[in-house]
Formats: sequence, structure tokens, C-alpha cells
Amino acid sequence: MESTQLVIIGAGPAGLSAGIYTARAGIDTLILGCAPKIAGDYDIDNYFGFPETISGKELMERGRKQAERFGAAMRCERVVGVHHGDNGRFIVKTEKNEIETCGVVLATGVSRIRPGISNLDDFDGKGVSYCVSCDGFFYRNKPVMVVGEGVFAANQALELTQYTPDVAVCAQGKELTMGEDFQAKLREADIPILPGKVERLEGDNGLERVVFDNGSSHDVHGLFVAMGEASSLDFAFSLGVERKGVFLVADQEQKTNIDGIFAAGDCVGNFLQISVAVGEGAKAARSAIKHVKNVCKKAEAE
Ligand SMILES: Cc1cc2nc3c(=O)[nH]c(=O)nc-3n(C[C@H](O)[C@H](O)[C@H](O)COP(=O)(O)OP(=O)(O)OC[C@H]3O[C@@H](n4cnc5c(N)ncnc54)[C@H](O)[C@@H]3O)c2cc1C
Repeated sequence: MESTQLVIIGAGPAGLSAGIYTARAGIDTLILGCAPKIAGDYDIDNYFGFPETISGKELMERGRKQAERFGAAMRCERVVGVHHGDNGRFIVKTEKNEIETCGVVLATGVSRIRPGISNLDDFDGKGVSYCVSCDGFFYRNKPVMVVGEGVFAANQALELTQYTPDVAVCAQGKELTMGEDFQAKLREADIPILPGKVERLEGDNGLERVVFDNGSSHDVHGLFVAMGEASSLDFAFSLGVERKGVFLVADQEQKTNIDGIFAAGDCVGNFLQISVAVGEGAKAARSAIKHVKNVCKKAEAE
């Protein structure tokens, strides 16, 4: 398995800023993430030090180059899960790799996409879940469904086969973004991709079935929401990181309640601005550097 001292999930202002500090401090840093939304043709007028308007694209390119200059490794690779490993370490699972690390900075921005099911919230905790590694166990040998169109959904569905053979995926009428490789894995695991869109949920004592937009229904006791890409919020569920609504809770030093997990930028939901994300990235880096030096380097020396 690949191993590195620190993984930063997110290559936006928060993740890149954190990477500049950690790499410069000599920490082996891997930044996972693709171009953030802001790296387009957007005019940025309010970022310190640029009296002329700078485009989001240029600002992000500069940030990437700066992190690379100090030795941060960067890959446009989607993370599908983060779990606790042995001896206080963490396992970051991407669509291609598994990486063992001493610390993780969560900096994925906010991207929770709702599946558009009318009464979803009524079944929260009564069949609707956002985390297979937290709740999969409760659905042993029961029919379950994952709603989502991408690698994240495929991965959640495959993980569910540890608990039950009766797993289906519904892309909610969206075009699949998972590649043919993941579709083949689902076929091999006998996981059908159901057409249509789940419109509402039904059941008297918890979830019993989903009803599609064409009026047909499918028996399901557990519905796992995994739309779009996995976000910091999804990783928070599986790691046990404290949350407040769709945001993560981090202290003044960007530490979460889980030792070794830090959070910065839009995912902690303060003032959703580049300058704030950059500042929080720097603070997360400072905490992560201390953590890696204490935990990771000591373990390496033993
Ligand atoms: C159109 C637009 C205009 C804006 N204009 C301004 C402005 O003028 N001034 C200003 O200050 N702010 C502006 N903002 C807000 C600003 O862009 C955000 O506050 C800032 O980008 C947040 O940075 P972040 O690093 O927290 O998250 P993001 O910039 O959202 O970066 C998230 C990163 O995480 C990665 N990621 C997400 N999920 C995964 C995954 N599962 N695996 C791997 N990587 C993942 C993404 O690829 C991306 O690299 C604007 C935002 C938008 C959308």
C-alpha cells in the first residue's frame, strides 16, 4: 500500500495553502483533488495582493505551482472513503489507490448534492443513511439501494456487499459518471443499476420500499445517499468527525474532534471566501505539522 505522512483532500485554496506550509516544513505531503470550481474564468477582485483583477484560474495555477515548488505531490484523483487504520493512522481510499497516512486535512469545499426525493428527511435514521461503514451492518441480508451516479456510489454499493447480497444502484435519472471499469465491477458483484428516479419513500415502521417516477416500486430497507463526489461530510461520517448540519466542526486550530484529522475552507462553513480558506488552510497545516512530527515521525523512528 502507498504511504505518506500527510494527505490533503482538496486542491482548492484551503488544500493548496495547507500544502504550501506542510511541504515547506518538510512533511511528505500528497494533495488529492482536481481543479476547484473557482479555477475558471471568474474575476477575483477581493483577494489580498492583487490590485488588478485576477482570474480564479490564474490564482489557482499560482497556488499549485507554489505548493509544487516546495515538494508537495499532487494528483487529480477522487477520494471515495477515509477510514481509521492501525496505530492511529488513516487509510485514504481513492478510485485507484489506497494510501496509508498519519494525518489528513479535509478541504473538499461543500458539495453535498441532494437526490431530490420528496420525503427523504422523514426516513432519516429510519432507513436513509449517508455512510456504509457506519450503518451497513444494520442491513445484514436485507435489500438496500445506493442512489448516486459516480465512483462514490459504485464504491458504496460494493462495500455494502460485505453485509448483504441484495444491493442495487439508482443514478436518479442522471448520466453515469463512473467509468466502464466500475460498471464492470458492479456487474461482477450482481449489483444492477436501476433506471429512473426514486420519487418518494414508503414504509410504516422504517423504510420498506422506494417508489420510482414511473409509479413502479422496489423493496428496500436501507437507502444510502452517495450523489456526486464524496465530500468532507461523507468522510466525517465514517471517521466520527463532529458535524453541524452540512459542515464539519473544527476548533481555532482547525483540529476536529478526531486526533489527526483537520478541516479547513468551505467545508467548515465560516465565511465562504478564498481569503478565509487560505487562512484556515495555513492553520490546519500548522496543526498537521505538529501532529505528524509527534505521531508519524516517532513511529518511524521506533
Ligand atoms: C463562481 C464562484 C465565484 C466565487 N467568487 C469568489 C470571489 O470573488 N472571492 C472569494 O473570496 N471567493 C469567491 N468564491 C468562493 C470561493 O471560491 C470559495 O470560498 C473557496 O474556493 C473555498 O475553497 P476550498 O479550498 O475550501 O474549497 P474548493 O475551492 O471548493 O475546493 C475543493 C477541492 O476539493 C476537491 N474535492 C472535492 N471532493 C473531492 C474528493 N472526493 N476527492 C478528491 N478531491 C475532492 C475539489 O476537486 C477541489 O480541488 C466564489 C465561488 C464560486 C463558485
